[in-house]
Amino acid sequence: MAKIGINIVTGSLQQAELIVGIDLGTTNSLVAIIHPDTKKPIALKEHDSSSLVPSIVHFDSYGNASVGEVAKQYLETEPQNTIFSAKRLMGKSYNDVKKNANFFTYKVIDDNTESLVKVQVGNQFFSPIELSSFILKELKQRAEHIMKTPVTKAVITVPAYFNDAQRQATRDAGKLAGLDVLRIVNEPTAASLAYGLGLRADEEKTIAVYDLGGGTFDVSILRITNGIFEVLSTNGDTYLGGDDFDRLIIQYWLQQNGLSEEVLHNNKQLSQTIRLIAEDAKKQLSNLSITNYELPITNDDVRFSLHDSLLAKFNFQLSTADFNKLIQPLIDRTITSCSDALKDAGLTTADVDTIVMVGGSTRVPAVKNAVSNFFGKPVNDTVNPDEVVALGAAVQADILAGNNKDFLLLDITPLSLGLETMGGLMDVLIPRNSKIPTKVGRQYTTYVDGQGSMRISVFQGERDMVKDNRKLAEFNLTGIPGMPAGLPKVEVNFLINADGILVVTAKELRSGVQQSIEVKPQYGLSDDQVEKMLMDSITHAKDDIQTRALVEARTEGEQLLGVTEKFLTKNAGLITQEEMIVTAQAMQALQLALTMEDKNLIQAKTEELNEVTRPFAERAMDAAINTAMKGQNILGN
Ligand code: AMP
Repeated sequence: MAKIGINIVTGSLQQAELIVGIDLGTTNSLVAIIHPDTKKPIALKEHDSSSLVPSIVHFDSYGNASVGEVAKQYLETEPQNTIFSAKRLMGKSYNDVKKNANFFTYKVIDDNTESLVKVQVGNQFFSPIELSSFILKELKQRAEHIMKTPVTKAVITVPAYFNDAQRQATRDAGKLAGLDVLRIVNEPTAASLAYGLGLRADEEKTIAVYDLGGGTFDVSILRITNGIFEVLSTNGDTYLGGDDFDRLIIQYWLQQNGLSEEVLHNNKQLSQTIRLIAEDAKKQLSNLSITNYELPITNDDVRFSLHDSLLAKFNFQLSTADFNKLIQPLIDRTITSCSDALKDAGLTTADVDTIVMVGGSTRVPAVKNAVSNFFGKPVNDTVNPDEVVALGAAVQADILAGNNKDFLLLDITPLSLGLETMGGLMDVLIPRNSKIPTKVGRQYTTYVDGQGSMRISVFQGERDMVKDNRKLAEFNLTGIPGMPAGLPKVEVNFLINADGILVVTAKELRSGVQQSIEVKPQYGLSDDQVEKMLMDSITHAKDDIQTRALVEARTEGEQLLGVTEKFLTKNAGLITQEEMIVTAQAMQALQLALTMEDKNLIQAKTEELNEVTRPFAERAMDAAINTAMKGQNILGN
């Protein structure tokens, strides 16, 4: 039974837990929930306004921030105080963004090119995380205002191609906005969820998610099996979108009227007006039937106040045919990306079962047709393409809230994770394809007497020797109190949280000393590399088994030699001359065997030495018990 609570501040009834879904977009952001009555996802909006909140932050002369439509008004008139596209800066250094520095009309700090970028507004400095947090705060407030209940938990979406630094930055922005970010979800995964895809446990599907927004384009190929979404490939262009359509329309109009672009450079107000008209014309063409519609935008019926008499000379006309001709090269580029994404996933168009359309620009009929023609199937476009990602995030949030017990959304680790053990062997703690979040612990011990530290080296990959795998991190567990080899108990835990971040903790249980490290297993690893690592493990499987067996035999042999040597120096008095000679011979034989690549020989010689020394151990034990009974310490030193 669902729990019901009463909000003591507002008196309203509330569900035990409201988790919102947030699409933190480059151009627009929005917040969605599952409607308590209809159980359907809805995007939240205030009265008749749009559900979209422009991802824009404006700072006034006192440094006060405003967000959304209010901030958007200053885009052209106060470009230096009006920050748009902060998402493009998330987790980036100046070096990463300098190629596109001209794109930003505000000041992106370039003094330290390696560290994370900051934006300067007046004499204040803001990180992209802070800027995003202003947008998230606005969405949080919107949700609280509409739902009349505090909102502290959210699922936030990010592009599938975001790396770990960018995901972490998004999570931090949430925290700064007072939100506990329960999960970061890939945008294409969320869009698929909004269409109900992946919600049946037995469903197996390949989905292409085509996302053309205002300023960015990406396509992702997803594979769903057993409720698990796997991103097979992504492709796209982070500087291609509906804004480029608008620019082409403006250029076309200027050309038609024999004007140069200088006119716009010199008049910001006029430039903004024409940009808005161009966007409006584009949107109208999307809703009207395809052929030769003439859009008579002239001075008379322009809704905006025009201060420039120059405008009266303009003749704004655009037919669907002309518009389509203008944008065809851009559409072609997106189709090439689709083709490349399929190639990277090792698939053809025939393998794709479903196509999901995301982003406002997919409303353009020519875009829809091109995508549908390319894949040879109709596209899914019934859900509002501006809202579909946020709606999917709300579906995910509802599942996390436990309101939808039928589904459990899981991700998997594409490669095994483990530790280096003696002889350079890979000891796998979390096998590949494990569902995450997950936690595994295992105990290790020391190899040498009095060993005060233990090196914990974390590797990723499928090969038996760590040298053939990928090293993720390394740290030393120090402060282990001096104990004989084999006595300390070091428990190593591997925890992968829901965002795929691995936390490795090592703790010596007797003394309690502990150390941990966080790693991001997929950081800097492309799908191709993952695939290559998997292929290598198959190609080398036989060699690897043999190598592992040899290394294990060697480690055991070396250990026995060490123990025997130590025993002989301490307990020489317990052994006869004859026994000493036989032991020395067996040790020599084993030592020689260890230099060879013959596992069977090493094992045979180890066993021989074991046979010879076994009675000594019993003798030593008796002697120790005798000494102990006399009240002395059995550990000697
Ligand atoms: P998004 O980034 O997904 O919010 O997409 C915003 C982009 O979609 C902007 O470039 C809008 O101009 C564009 N857009 C919104 N509605 C339409 C429409 N009806 N037809 C064409 N483009 C649209």
